[in-house]
Amino acid sequence: MMARMMNFCSHCGQPVALAIPPGDHLPRFLCKACGVIHYENPKLVVGCVPELDGRILICKRAIEPRRGYWTIPAGFMENDETLQQAAARECQEEALADVEIGSLLVVAHVLSARQVHVFFRAHLPTPSFGAGPESLEVDLVKPADIPWSDIAFPSTEFALRRYLEDRAAGAEQHHFATLERRL
Ligand SMILES: [Zn+2]
Repeated sequence: MMARMMNFCSHCGQPVALAIPPGDHLPRFLCKACGVIHYENPKLVVGCVPELDGRILICKRAIEPRRGYWTIPAGFMENDETLQQAAARECQEEALADVEIGSLLVVAHVLSARQVHVFFRAHLPTPSFGAGPESLEVDLVKPADIPWSDIAFPSTEFALRRYLEDRAAGAEQHHFATLERRL
């Protein structure tokens, strides 16, 4: 896959060129003016499956990609937070819900999007939630009412299905997967 385009050095403003640095094995954007090598690494997307009394909190996306499709609260991890803090923060932002983050559920490699998606189980202590700015609608649904044909991302579906299977089996396993960007 081609690297994301970069024209100018974010460190000194001079033009950069794509080349393999000495001792490296992949092309990087190099700045000849200041010597900085601009590494690009996968981004972490972190989320959770919030549950209250057997019902799951899901969000209808108000933003692209996949606007209008349903997902579970998730988003890009920030600096200076743990995975669990990121998952809880995203749930607060997208679903206005304060959750208790539980065990690790899914690690999904989405190579084509250059992302790693990490999902946790979560407990919603009270039925208090609402649509944050990135959600059109938030709903607490029974597993039978999950809108499988309108799920936003393969990793969302994977996390929900593994969650429900484990729950039915009385287990809390974690699951690794390599998924495409979209089904
Ligand atoms: Zn530079």
